[in-house]
Amino acid sequence: MRQFLDIKDRHPDAIVFFRLGDFYEMFFEDAVLAAGLLDLTLTTRDKGKVDAIPMCGVPHHAARNYIARLTELGHKVVICEQTEDPKLAKGLVKREVVRIVTPGVVVDEESLDPRAARYLAAVAFPDERATGKGPAVGLAYLDVTTGEFRATELATADAAADELARVAPREVLAEAAALAEDGAAAPLRRWKAAWSATAIPDRATAAAELAAALADVPDAAAHPLAVRAAAAVLAYARATQPAGALPVARLALYDPAAAVVLDEAAIANLELTQTLIGGKRDGSLLAVLDETATSPGARLLRRWLLYPLTEVAAIRRRLDAVEWLLQRPDLRRELRAALRGVADLERLAGKATLGVAQPRDLGRIRDSLAALPALAKQLAAAAGKGKAAPEATIDALPPLLDLRAVATAELARLAARLTDALVDEPPALAKDGGFIRDGFDPTVDECRRLADGGKDAILAIETREKERSGISSLKVRYNRVFGYYIEITKSHLGKVPADYLRKQTVATGERFVTPELAELESKVLAAEETLLAREAELHAALVGQVAGLAQPVIAAGAAIAALDVALALADVAERRNFVRPEVDDGVALDIVDGRHPVVEAMVAAGTFVPNDAHLDADREQIVLVTGPNMAGKSTFMRQVAHIVLLAQMGSFVPAKSARIGVCDRLFTRVGAADNLARGDSTFMVEMRETAAILAGATRRSLVVLDEVGRGTSTFDGVSIAWAVAEFLHDAIGARTLFATHYHELTALAETRPRVRNVSAQVREHKGEVVFLRRIAAGGASRSYGIDVARLAGLPRSVISRARQILGKLEVGASLGGTASAQLSLLPTGPAAVPVDAGGQAVIDRLRAVDPDRMTPLEALAMVAELRRLVGPR
Ligand code: ADP
Ligand code: MG
Repeated sequence: MRQFLDIKDRHPDAIVFFRLGDFYEMFFEDAVLAAGLLDLTLTTRDKGKVDAIPMCGVPHHAARNYIARLTELGHKVVICEQTEDPKLAKGLVKREVVRIVTPGVVVDEESLDPRAARYLAAVAFPDERATGKGPAVGLAYLDVTTGEFRATELATADAAADELARVAPREVLAEAAALAEDGAAAPLRRWKAAWSATAIPDRATAAAELAAALADVPDAAAHPLAVRAAAAVLAYARATQPAGALPVARLALYDPAAAVVLDEAAIANLELTQTLIGGKRDGSLLAVLDETATSPGARLLRRWLLYPLTEVAAIRRRLDAVEWLLQRPDLRRELRAALRGVADLERLAGKATLGVAQPRDLGRIRDSLAALPALAKQLAAAAGKGKAAPEATIDALPPLLDLRAVATAELARLAARLTDALVDEPPALAKDGGFIRDGFDPTVDECRRLADGGKDAILAIETREKERSGISSLKVRYNRVFGYYIEITKSHLGKVPADYLRKQTVATGERFVTPELAELESKVLAAEETLLAREAELHAALVGQVAGLAQPVIAAGAAIAALDVALALADVAERRNFVRPEVDDGVALDIVDGRHPVVEAMVAAGTFVPNDAHLDADREQIVLVTGPNMAGKSTFMRQVAHIVLLAQMGSFVPAKSARIGVCDRLFTRVGAADNLARGDSTFMVEMRETAAILAGATRRSLVVLDEVGRGTSTFDGVSIAWAVAEFLHDAIGARTLFATHYHELTALAETRPRVRNVSAQVREHKGEVVFLRRIAAGGASRSYGIDVARLAGLPRSVISRARQILGKLEVGASLGGTASAQLSLLPTGPAAVPVDAGGQAVIDRLRAVDPDRMTPLEALAMVAELRRLVGPR
């Protein structure tokens, strides 16, 4: 117990898994907590005593699963092992913390999603004395499994919250003070992760710590907040791995402006990585694009998608690689087949560095490294096809696909070493041995010979003793408790030779040993023990050798990932008929026959209706999209946004042709009524998000506004939408797509030169509304809302009454044109409801709520409650 308490003292915020024999035990409050969370039986130690200690346990072989569940729930688990053999221990067996598993630091492969990074992040804030100028937040994040380590600085807390949503770390570290209710981190905590308190070092300390740990260190003076956050992440991650090093060699500082700024709402609304409703991967843009063959490829693709580039030359480099592969379908097929044999080199090298790699992992590294030179050659040969001079070959390969730099001599040597050392199919675990190849190590060979020889001799004894005793059923057997023995069945016990020593009686007969057998046995066991120890030693050495080359192995993995992503994008382009976009520094967007990549993939082949889009900050800056519900407005606008993002990530795009003037930021807002999935979608949120656009958009941005203002009454809504559109036109100049069912807004084009009207076409056919899904010039003349209502089956009398009211409203609008004139046409009810007891209760209840802060569900619940309050009819 003292041992346990010592460890618990050092890790008060974690659940301690304390190894006792074949179990991990938990004690005290840890046991109570874990028993509840994991559905374990809570027992007590020293049963019967008054102050008995609560405890519970899990078998060590099943621990992984329990640990994963606890970390998924946001807990930290300290794993404490016996670090000396209980047989050899004098007194108490020594125990040490070998690893700490936290939501952000998981190294167990089976608990990780291979196709997504697992980040631990930290945020740092300027100290009190800071002037208020300069960045507001430093953000750093690390994937402990691959050593990917990045940091940046954000100008505002809002931008930091958006970046957190894009990085999606599972755990975020901040100083305890920042985590307080009104602390600096409060506005960032809309990112739902495990938020852990930690000390964030000052600039000088942080710089020194990073310099000591990394080969490449960024300039601490220029980016103090990023560096401080990075040092905090590194220190925390290191503390989780007392037994191993981290596979981290450099910190990549990045400028948020090098990628399209995508805020949380845009990522969600455009369904880039998951759907808005249900949060499923299927139905997202990523799912359409992800034809990658390897896990590092899948991780990189996600990064490309979430960080579209803004530099034209860099975008073209990616497009060059995709196009080059697209033109070579046979090569693509071969490369894809070869990639299937390449394992996750990044994470495997990480495991070696962390000291947790097993023989099978080493085997996978060997096989993957061995495949690299052939891959590199294949690419180079394809590039050289038809070229006269070999120099031309080298230049003909798109730089992104150049694997020669990673198919190096040192990696080839490592592969050769692993080939020499390991059997063809190494076992999963080192502890059972049997993975060193014959002929690699004299000690191993010798031990195996002795052990095998001993076993042969033992088998020979069986034959000889059968003859000598005349017992044909005599058998030499082995078990873990007794070792080798001779088993004789009951009926033959009379014939047992006198020199046999009885060891054990079993139901079927008796078991004996002989001095000769015992001697052979101890030889075999000694040889096997030496063998295991020697194999373990060799394994550790091999792991060390891989760890020593971890960075080049990781670099090779990254190069393979880039090839994999380019291949996937080429395959998608071919399969889905995408074209290469023209990308430039202009401020126009010119899309001919664009399609929505996800909707197109979901509707019947050939039924998706393509549409053009022209936007131009100089001429057609704002495109107002009108048309009835279900006509295709949202789909049209999202497809434009998708095409822009695809182009800037370096992908081909679903269109006949596309010219994209690169965007620096992309904003989307979906009106509250259209945005039920986000739960918190009140009008207030919608307006806050709109405010963020008006504050953040530039002339180079792309703004997609879908039914903004819908979350409030019609007149408020029209007025807000109108004013927002004017502001975007007059003050910002960002390319804007603006969908609205307020067809009143089409009048904007009369007073603002860069506003264009388009509308989603519908036709009436035999009294029915037919959606053509075609976006054509000109605003919608009317909203068709009543037609849709009729289609939906509203009673005929309601429909005709609605037409009547609409007629009056339209007359009113054309006469006076003001909102209040329209308002006065609305039929008004009695001035006040007579108040009885039930009425007063309703009024009180209504006064107590804030409609801006209600979800649709809460509102519905309240209507039901009010209905109850007024009593039966
Ligand atoms: P709106 O925003 O005008 O209400 P949506 O864009 O949500 O309409 O489109 C409604 C449905 O129509 C979509 O779910 C999709 O299935 C279909 N749709 C939209 N645009 C197209 C198109 N261009 N081709 C084929 N189907 C489309
Ligand atoms: Mg819509």
